[in-house]
Amino acid sequence: MELGGLPPVIEVDSDAGKVRVGAGLRYADVGRYIDERGFGLGNLGSLPHISIAGACATGTHGSGVGNGNLSSAVAGLELVTADGDLVRLDRGDERFEGAVVGMGALGVVVALELDLVPSFQVRQRVYEGLPLDTLFPKFREIVSSAYSVSLFTDWRGPVINQVWVKQREDEAAVEIPGTPADGPRHPVPGMSPESCTEQMDVPGPWFERLPHFRPDRIPSAGDELQSEFMIDAADAVQALAALDAIRDHIHPVLQICEVRTIAADRLWLSPCYQRDSVALHFTWVADTPAVLPVVARIEDALAPFAPRPHWAKIFTTPPDALRPRYDRLPDFQSLAHDLDPTGKFRNPFTDKYLFA
Ligand SMILES: Cc1cc2nc3c(=O)[nH]c(=O)nc-3n(C[C@H](O)[C@H](O)[C@H](O)COP(=O)(O)OP(=O)(O)OC[C@H]3O[C@@H](n4cnc5c(N)ncnc54)[C@H](O)[C@@H]3O)c2cc1C
Repeated sequence: MELGGLPPVIEVDSDAGKVRVGAGLRYADVGRYIDERGFGLGNLGSLPHISIAGACATGTHGSGVGNGNLSSAVAGLELVTADGDLVRLDRGDERFEGAVVGMGALGVVVALELDLVPSFQVRQRVYEGLPLDTLFPKFREIVSSAYSVSLFTDWRGPVINQVWVKQREDEAAVEIPGTPADGPRHPVPGMSPESCTEQMDVPGPWFERLPHFRPDRIPSAGDELQSEFMIDAADAVQALAALDAIRDHIHPVLQICEVRTIAADRLWLSPCYQRDSVALHFTWVADTPAVLPVVARIEDALAPFAPRPHWAKIFTTPPDALRPRYDRLPDFQSLAHDLDPTGKFRNPFTDKYLFA
């Protein structure tokens, strides 16, 4: 959806601790402005290039056991519905929790109100070489050791290649098993860290440390496919062991796999609905025919954990298997019917997974 032409509104309400942003804006457009007024956003995804409306409509997330996904920071939204009405929904309204992760199926979001927190500083450091058998007994402890922790592996061995630790200035430092990196790192083996946000424990504002990638560079690998599956955090070690068992199938088409944590929320179509989650992300090579069978194999391996795929990434889970993983899908269907009775905003993807 292209809304870049909408007015670039950023209105900070200091008393309410909220910011109202136009739906055409990206996180990269608002970070510094908000920070200069003494505020921050509680979390960000791995890159600030994404649109705020698109990220919130699809349940996009960063990491941190105490951090909900980016959609969970939405306090209100303004929606132009199929008949041209402007509908405002705020947290507390009956339909609000259904509308935030709306997948574009309810109307066009033209502005969002987001929760603010006091601005904060973050230090980022990377550890290398964490064997899975060291990780597994300490999984919860390691992912809870700082405000935001990400684990990266290329699945070439039973090892986490890198642990990225984003520690708030007001948090005590915790040592992670593994070797502290002796310089900046890129998560994908062999790539220059030049596109990454500053590491080596240098403090900086939240908007320049929570994303892995800098706003002025090409993020991630640049040429890639992505998949991601959210499972119950309690199943993380078992799920990682299941992936380890098929790593010989994964690594030939993988650039990098990232493991993150996300706090549960109450948003009907959120992959983290009522479930503290661990997110298993895969950055693939850009070769769809080679990647899809591996995605299906991963879905088989993770099936016992009823994974919810990231809506904005590649998955092959059949709709019949996916729908029962969303308890509130029938409520979402009636909300969509109320707001868009003729199905103006439906498309083949939403028809297949949400409505058929
Ligand atoms: C390099 C890279 C890194 C990524 N890192 C992460 C990450 O760390 N965490 C994560 O969770 N995801 C990540 N993603 C995926 C990303 O979150 C999704 O692509 C997300 O949907 C936001 O993308 P977008 O800005 O391209 O949104 P868009 O493509 O603009 O929107 C996505 C969908 O949201 C809906 N939508 C958008 N705007 C509106 C609107 N105004 N009104 C109603 N509906 C709307 C539409 O259904 C649209 O198809 C990454 C993607 C890339 C390419």
